[in-house]
Amino acid sequence: MLDLLIRNARIVDGTGAPSFMGDLGVQDGLIRSVGAPDGRTAERVIDAEGLALAPGFVDPHTHYDAQIAWDPLLTCSPWHGVTTVVMGNCGVGVAPVKAGTREILMQDLVNVEAIPYDVMKAGIDWQWESYGEYLDAIDRRGLGINVAGLVAFTPLRHYVMGEASFERAATEGEIDTMRRLLREAVEAGAFGFTTTTSRNHVGYQGRPLACRNASRDELTGVVRGLHDAGRGTIEIILNSGGMHAVSDEDLELLRQITRASGRPVTWLALFAHPGQPDFHDQTFARLGDLVKQAIPQVTPRPIMSQGDLKNPTMFGSFVSWQKVFNRPPAEQMVLYRDPAFREAFRQELESRKRGHMWGQMRVLEVGKPELAEHVGRTLEEIAAGQGKRPVDAYFDLGLADDLNTRFQSSTFNFDPAGIERLVTDDRCLIGLSDGGAHVDFICDVGYATALRPLGAPAPGAEPREGGAQAHAGPGHHLRHPGPGRPGRGQGGRPGPLRSRHRDGEDAAVRLRSAVQRPPAGLGVGGHQGHVGGGRPALRRRQAHRGHARAHPTQRGIGHRFLNAGITWAEKRSSCSRMTACGVPTG
Ligand SMILES: [Zn+2]
Repeated sequence: MLDLLIRNARIVDGTGAPSFMGDLGVQDGLIRSVGAPDGRTAERVIDAEGLALAPGFVDPHTHYDAQIAWDPLLTCSPWHGVTTVVMGNCGVGVAPVKAGTREILMQDLVNVEAIPYDVMKAGIDWQWESYGEYLDAIDRRGLGINVAGLVAFTPLRHYVMGEASFERAATEGEIDTMRRLLREAVEAGAFGFTTTTSRNHVGYQGRPLACRNASRDELTGVVRGLHDAGRGTIEIILNSGGMHAVSDEDLELLRQITRASGRPVTWLALFAHPGQPDFHDQTFARLGDLVKQAIPQVTPRPIMSQGDLKNPTMFGSFVSWQKVFNRPPAEQMVLYRDPAFREAFRQELESRKRGHMWGQMRVLEVGKPELAEHVGRTLEEIAAGQGKRPVDAYFDLGLADDLNTRFQSSTFNFDPAGIERLVTDDRCLIGLSDGGAHVDFICDVGYATALRPLGAPAPGAEPREGGAQAHAGPGHHLRHPGPGRPGRGQGGRPGPLRSRHRDGEDAAVRLRSAVQRPPAGLGVGGHQGHVGGGRPALRRRQAHRGHARAHPTQRGIGHRFLNAGITWAEKRSSCSRMTACGVPTG
C-alpha cells in the first residue's frame, strides 16, 4: 500500500521527454511508481483530473537565511511551485557568528538585502555559532521545502577577523582559518560559498561590505576550502556584467577562483541588452572555455522594484541617498528639494549607467486624487509634459504628494526578445529571484510561474512538446543536498542533479526544475488562462511581521508536494493546470 497516489495526471518528468498521462505513487517519501495504473492503492489518493504533474522548481538564488528562523515554509517561494531554494548568496548571511557580530550581520542584511531590522531582531533566535550549528538549528525547527545554504564571505570575515574585517585584507593565518572553516561548513552540509565584489555593496554603518576588503590572494586562498572538501559551488557578484561587458579584471577573477576551488561558479549577472541581440553571444565569446565552470545567472523577468520617497529602499545602495535613510519625512523633504542632492543623485545614476531608468520608472499609486493623472505614466513622459528634467519631475511629484507616491521601476532586463535568448540558452542558469530580500519593494520569486513561453505556441496555436532544457541548463553542476534539510551526509555525492520520476531510480535522486517546455495545452508564461500569472505587474502588498511586503500573485499551481507531504493545497481554479512535485524518486 502506497502512502500517496496521484492518479490521472499529465506527467512531465523533467527529462524533456513528451508528457504522458499516468499515475504516480509515493511511499516512505520516495516516488515508487510512475506510469500506467497498476492497481496499487494508497492511503491518500488524489485525482489530478488531467492536470500536469511536474518536478518542483529549484531556485538557486534566495536570501532566506534570516526568514528561515521564523518561517519554515519560506513564503512566498512555494506558492510558485518552488520546492528547493539555495540561500546565502551575494556575500551576506547569518553564520558563522559570535554574539558580538550579530548586530553587524543584521545591519549588513538591512543595507544589502533590505530586510527590515526589527523583523530580524524579533525573529532570529541565534541558536548557533558555526555554520554547521546554524544548519542544525534550522533542521530542528523543521522545513517546509528543501533548502541548501551557502557560506557567506562577510560573516566569515567578521567571525575570524573582528573589527579588522572592515579595514584590511586578511593575513595568511586568517586566510588559513577561513579556508578551514569553509571546509568544515561544507562537510557539515553547506552547499558552497558566496561573495560579492560589487562596489555598490555597502554594509554596516554605511561602510563597504567587509568581504570587499579581501585581496585577490585572500579570496582564492579561502575558496581552496572547497577544493579541500572536494565539493560545493560558488556564487559571486561581479563588478561588471549586467547590461555591460564583463571586464578583463572580472574574467581573471573568475579564472582564479574556479582554478583555486576546482568548483563551479555562478556569477551575477547577465541581462538582456536592448537593441543588441548578440550581446549575450559576445559575453560567451569573452568567457571562452571558462563558461563551463563560470555560469551566468539570468532571469526570465525584468528586474522590477517599487517604493516611495519615505522609504526609498530601491536606492539603498546609492551613496548619494545614504543621508535620506532613518530621517523623518520633514527632513527628507528638505533634502529632496535641495538641488545639490538632486544633482548628486543624477550624477550617480550616470556613473552607474542607469540614466535610462526614467523611461522605465512609472507611477504606481498616488496619495492625492488630484495627482491621479500621473498613474501609469513614466517619469520620462511626465518630465516631457512638464518641460523639466526627469530627476526634477520625480522629486517634485513626490513632494507634491507628501512623499506618498509609489513608483515602480524595471531598470534592467526589460527587453523581451533578449530575455528569451538568455533563458533558452543552456549556458545560463535561471535564478536571481532574491527571495526573502528587498522585502517591501521586490519579489521576483514568482519567476517560476512567470517564465516566458519558451517557444510555446501562442494560445490557440498548435502546441509543441518536449525538448527545451532551458531551466535545467547548467544547474547540474550544483550538488544537491538531502531532502527537506541542508545536505547532511549526501552533499558530496557525485553526479548531476536529476529529478526524473522514474521507477527504481536512486533513492537519493532529487527534484530539479521541470517545466521547461509546456506539454500540450499547457502554457508556462504570462498568457492569461495559462499556468502562470506571476506577472510582474501584479503585486499585492501584505503584512510581513508588521511590514509591508511585495509579493507576486500566481494562478495555476494547485498542490505542491514535498517528500510525500503536501506543502500546499488549494482549491483549483478553472485555469489550474499544474502541480509542482518535490518528491524524490526511489
Ligand atoms: Zn542576491
